Amino acid sequence: MKQTDRQHKGIHHISVLAGDAQRNAEFYVQKLGMRLVKKSVNQDDPGTYHLFYGNAEGSPGSGLTFFPWPMARQGKPGVGESVAVGLSVPSGSENYWAEHLESAGIRLDTYTDLFGKKALFFRDPDGLQLILVIDERVDSIPHWEQSSVPSGAAIRGFWGTTLRLNDHTATAAILKELFSFEETAQDGRSRLYTTDAPIGGSVILEEADPMPSSNGRGTVHHVAFRAKDDEELESMRQKVIAMGMQPTAHIDRHWFHSIYFHTPGGVLFEIATDGPGYAVDEDADKLGQKLILPPWLESRRETIENRLPVISV
Ligand code: ZN
Repeated sequence: MKQTDRQHKGIHHISVLAGDAQRNAEFYVQKLGMRLVKKSVNQDDPGTYHLFYGNAEGSPGSGLTFFPWPMARQGKPGVGESVAVGLSVPSGSENYWAEHLESAGIRLDTYTDLFGKKALFFRDPDGLQLILVIDERVDSIPHWEQSSVPSGAAIRGFWGTTLRLNDHTATAAILKELFSFEETAQDGRSRLYTTDAPIGGSVILEEADPMPSSNGRGTVHHVAFRAKDDEELESMRQKVIAMGMQPTAHIDRHWFHSIYFHTPGGVLFEIATDGPGYAVDEDADKLGQKLILPPWLESRRETIENRLPVISV
């Protein structure tokens, strides 16, 4: 693999279960300053939202998406799941964030070192573990001009995620062989895998003993990794099959094309193409302002809109 290819490998998006949609949007847009890049519906349950937050362009490596269900019970993450989402912020922004979280009423749980980077640990309103990672590699990535957070501190995309596993071996092989990650550090039972991508290029595999867990709000549904185009998506799909797993066929998610597969470690993985992207169906400067439906749901717009609660940010 060429060195430049590893700059485009890594996490594409991460999808999480949430509770109240308005509370979710207020937290990520007003408090964390992320951009709502797509307001759509859950394609498998169009009576509920699918909200996408990202960086200025909603580029691959920045998409944190939520399926809000107002009645969702509280989840508790366990083994075989992504248990934390790391978001990268520019160098020197740690003091801003420590003060900002406090003034926004968000409790900072820990301010510590994460594989050599300064990191602030806190939770979203549904209990999702978030980590702001100070990472100078994102200093040059453009910030969203209308963010409530100043340019020198605004979130630029994913740092990465933490997968909690009984045994790291099988998942490590997938990260290496399919997604071009390399093991670059170890700390106790946690191992860091990285690519050269400035965002979305870090995954921590944390070994842990079985623990009680339940699905619900605040838990990660799946982690998606990047494929450059349909051709690479298919060649990766063939590798998934060769590794003994059972991927879905290609699914048209409108803003990207995807396959899904369960990994032996338990985490649901997706592979998603970089394109066509969130600007395929609305102006790049107006992303997220109105409800966007994929073309095959457009004929049901009125019914769908009537069922959805209004959200405003
Ligand atoms: Zn997905």
